[in-house]
Amino acid sequence: MMKNDICNCGAIALDENSKLVIDRVAEVAGYLWQKNWAERNGGNISVNLYDNIFYFTGTGQRMRDVAKSPLDFGAIIKVCDDWTNFEYVSEKHIKPTSELPSHLAIHKCLRDRGMRNTVVVHTHPNELIAISHLEKFLDADVLTKTLWSMIPESRIIVPKGVGVVSYHVPGSLELATATIEQLATHDVILWEKHGVLAVGNDVVECFDAIDTLVKCTQIYLFAKMAGGEPQGLNDEQLEELAVKFNL
Ligand SMILES: [Zn+2]
Repeated sequence: MMKNDICNCGAIALDENSKLVIDRVAEVAGYLWQKNWAERNGGNISVNLYDNIFYFTGTGQRMRDVAKSPLDFGAIIKVCDDWTNFEYVSEKHIKPTSELPSHLAIHKCLRDRGMRNTVVVHTHPNELIAISHLEKFLDADVLTKTLWSMIPESRIIVPKGVGVVSYHVPGSLELATATIEQLATHDVILWEKHGVLAVGNDVVECFDAIDTLVKCTQIYLFAKMAGGEPQGLNDEQLEELAVKFNL
């Protein structure tokens, strides 16, 4: 947790683009609630608007409220050079998500890897959490190949596949560290018995990646309910997609 919540960075006014980005956060927060992935205050979103200016959903705040009014249930902050302390830029001082330290660690790591305007979305999709209770899907290769093989688009929309992080206490440093490690080689991370985390440059695209993976999981489960193990696209068909779409 923060040693100090406030530093002397100085306040900054928001530009038009940042306002549009925050509108998109509200749009996605609404989707998370409508999809039944955001019970009570489940999940959180953070966006690096520019430089060291971030939007964070608030701790204990509900996605359905963020959807209606993102600046009443989230905060814009300027993170100091130590990537630990911050000051409020938004008028309201809504305390950021308790996941702030882990989100910042992820944003910093992505920036170190050359990404800008990064987004982190964490949510609780039922179907993906359900299969994280099955041991065979805690293997990232098995999970990725199973989901990719359900519909061809998933190979294209989630090109690096799904990483898996074994269970750790929510908000812990262990969870953040393991997630950062997996993000080097995957687009979306499944947290065992907890939820998923997606990163990218656009909050809607992060949602789309999770949504596509949930659809793949649903198809897998529907096929199982229909009486057997789904065939899935074969290796040749998956490779054909990789070549055609230069993945
Ligand atoms: Zn969670």
